[in-house]
Amino acid sequence: MKGKVNADWHRTHRMPGRPTREQRVEWHAEHSAACGCRGVPASLSADVKALEESTARTN
Ligand SMILES: [Zn+2]
Repeated sequence: MKGKVNADWHRTHRMPGRPTREQRVEWHAEHSAACGCRGVPASLSADVKALEESTARTN
């Protein structure tokens, strides 16, 4: 889905106005799986990857 915006996902997954780092990591982990409009910021990529790996096989 690289480059494609999942507008429905964005409508239902608003980033909080002042997100904590944890909220941003969770948002980007879900976002990267659902939408390809932009990449994960470099400053968060390690945490997002770890979260994805920890949740990858739960469903
Ligand atoms: Zn997106």
